[in-house]
Amino acid sequence: MTEQKKLEAEVLRLLNYDSLTNLVNRNFLNFFITKSIERSAKTSLYSALLFINLDNFKGVNNKCGNRIGDRLLVESANIIKKSLQKKDVISRVGGDEFVVLVETQEKDETHVIKIFAKTTQIILENLKNLCVIDKYEFYISASIGIKLFNNNIASADELMLHANNAMCNAKRNGKNTFCFFDPKLQKMMEDKIKLTYSLKEAIEKDLMSLYYQTQIFTKKKEKIVGVEALIRWNHPARGMISPADFIPLAEESGLIVPLGEWIIDEVCKQINIWKSDEIKKHWRISINVSSKQFELDSFVTTIKNIVDKNDINPTMIRLELTESLLIKNIDKVLDTLHKLKEMGFSLSIDDFGTGYSSLSYLKKLPINELKIDQSFIRDLTLDINDEIITKTIISIGEQFGLEVIAEGVETKEQYKKLVEIGCEYFQGYLFSKPVRAEQL
Ligand code: C2E
Ligand code: MG
Ligand code: MG
Repeated sequence: MTEQKKLEAEVLRLLNYDSLTNLVNRNFLNFFITKSIERSAKTSLYSALLFINLDNFKGVNNKCGNRIGDRLLVESANIIKKSLQKKDVISRVGGDEFVVLVETQEKDETHVIKIFAKTTQIILENLKNLCVIDKYEFYISASIGIKLFNNNIASADELMLHANNAMCNAKRNGKNTFCFFDPKLQKMMEDKIKLTYSLKEAIEKDLMSLYYQTQIFTKKKEKIVGVEALIRWNHPARGMISPADFIPLAEESGLIVPLGEWIIDEVCKQINIWKSDEIKKHWRISINVSSKQFELDSFVTTIKNIVDKNDINPTMIRLELTESLLIKNIDKVLDTLHKLKEMGFSLSIDDFGTGYSSLSYLKKLPINELKIDQSFIRDLTLDINDEIITKTIISIGEQFGLEVIAEGVETKEQYKKLVEIGCEYFQGYLFSKPVRAEQL
């Protein structure tokens, strides 16, 4: 390279890059944002600006001097870079301020929110790792503002301003966190965090309750053989919240562990209460086990400990597992199932027919029951396909020597049809809604 060329390259670098971190500078970032606005206007695909401001950085410069401060900035830039993909544009736009431009292939806002909530969490987690410079130890944290855009006509400056505002909100919210600019999105995130918090409180304060729905056997005459335990959360302000809404939240936050233990313990206590009732002492209780709970290495020991503590015979308990859970990690799942079976628990596949388990796999599972998903029962008398599926499940059950129970049975017509095609076990509003134990 001639001296002239070298000089030109150096000038170009100085114009477009930050000399301390070698990241893109504000000027060059502007260029990328403008391109990205054009792209998303054409394609409707979402992009985002993440405005990252290190927390309490001023203190570092004051306490340790600018040289150490600079090295901390370089270290932070490297951590941010490692937390992202190569194609993302990372820039330093001011002292301790970084802005990242991320383009996605997504059009679905809810999905995009999830992606960026996760991305920022990864950045925050990685920054948290201890960083040592000379004799100083630092725990870095940051506040991050997120501005999503697609199809919009805002300028690069406006987008930067929005991302910056969102970052300021993250600071106001106590730092070491992130905020979306869009008030609607921000509210969704906050609601989720609040709900998770109140779920934690509800579990701790024993505000959750179990309802029970009867399961009927009708070979000779209708007879209750068991009940399914279904969790209920009566939120003081929001009223009843469906388990379909809070179980995923509990899984995401890890609260499923204490919640799952509470459910098993509560069921054991109920079995003990019913021991003195001539009829109910024969009822087996089915417990829904969520995948996150089942996948824990400690699951088998935990359930054994709870059952032992309450002096319960495990044969009184049936565990309902979903198909999707069973096909995840086959060897480990089989091992766990065999252990549970040996201890005396009986096992059921819930929502059967909606997953993808193969028949050859099903044959290997030490299960006792298939639960026909209620989506097939709903239109059973109207849709011939649902009738065919239901018949098939019943005949699979017969071949493999499994009990087959239909769930979501609401009408006499559905019941009659099910009896006609050979179903013997039933659960649904036709017989009873889920109710408190005292109401049974
Ligand atoms: P699932 O285990 O398949 O439970 C059956 C759901 O159908 C229950 O809803 C029940 O109330 C409802 N149901 C029962 N009979 C009828 C009927 O005739 N018609 C209709 N339309 N619905 C009927 P629920 O209680 O809202 O529970 C929803 C799901 O949440 C459950 O589906 C289960 O996957 C989960 N879940 C509930 N309780 C627990 C729990 O204690 N632990 C865990 N991990 N998951 C739970
Ligand atoms: Mg169930
Ligand atoms: Mg079900």
